[in-house]
Amino acid sequence: MSVLEVKDLHVTVEGKEILKGVNLKMSTGEIHAIMGPNGTGKSTLSSTIMGDPAYKITKGDILLNGKSIIDLPVDERARMGLFLAMQYPQEIPGVTNAEFVKSAINARRPKDDPIPLMDFIKRLDETLETLDMSEEMADRYLNEGFSGGEKKRNEIMQMMMIRPEFAILDEIDSGLDIDALKVVSRGVNQMRGDNFGSLIITHYQRLLNYIVPDYVHVMMDGQLVKTGGPDLAIRLEKEGYAKLRDELGLDI
Ligand code: ADP
Ligand code: MG
Ligand code: MG
Repeated sequence: MSVLEVKDLHVTVEGKEILKGVNLKMSTGEIHAIMGPNGTGKSTLSSTIMGDPAYKITKGDILLNGKSIIDLPVDERARMGLFLAMQYPQEIPGVTNAEFVKSAINARRPKDDPIPLMDFIKRLDETLETLDMSEEMADRYLNEGFSGGEKKRNEIMQMMMIRPEFAILDEIDSGLDIDALKVVSRGVNQMRGDNFGSLIITHYQRLLNYIVPDYVHVMMDGQLVKTGGPDLAIRLEKEGYAKLRDELGLDI
């Protein structure tokens, strides 16, 4: 079992404090969701966990299995088993999807033991089938000319191929129609198990009908202000954030 822990995390962006003491502990085998109004720091949290240098940690720590990762570069964190699916996935011209995924898999294996080609092809075929993706997608340059929905589906493809210990999915549902949402959810649900944990960031409860989380956290003004089960997401969808804000006595 692996454990990812965020401790009293304070983060500034361009000199402004965005995260104001976030605490979160998750283990493989668990799915956590973070909900919250726009602009409260959800994406800041995911980018900081992944190591984006634009986000400056002024206090607190991020630990993977008890070891601080905050001084490690992005690629090192990925090698250790973290995966971030971004709200706006990058395009990398000149690198095919399949090449990208294969090098990411091999980066997590010993240098003298790359994934055997047949194993790679089998895993790729199975993954593409689960996600209703064509084989042609794998040979295309990374995200180049992909539609919004294709990019999201592609991120889940990468996640399923790379098999990270923790996947952070930031608004993976935004801009997806209901069919694409179901496909993406199917991929995440197939990953569920003792060796996989996920942090799912979303505005809307709808995604959590398909990927039922173990824990739901609410972020407001740079802090996780409440934690509950799936019922908390349903309640928020019904009542909105304002009521919770009043209830918690938050002046924001
Ligand atoms: P959320 O994901 O909850 O909508 P974000 O983490 O994206 O919120 O943003 C939180 C705040 O931080 C916003 O006020 C946003 O403008 C600011 N912010 C986030 N990233 C940057 C950045 N790279 N440069 C400047 N401001 C940023
Ligand atoms: Mg946002
Ligand atoms: Mg965001």
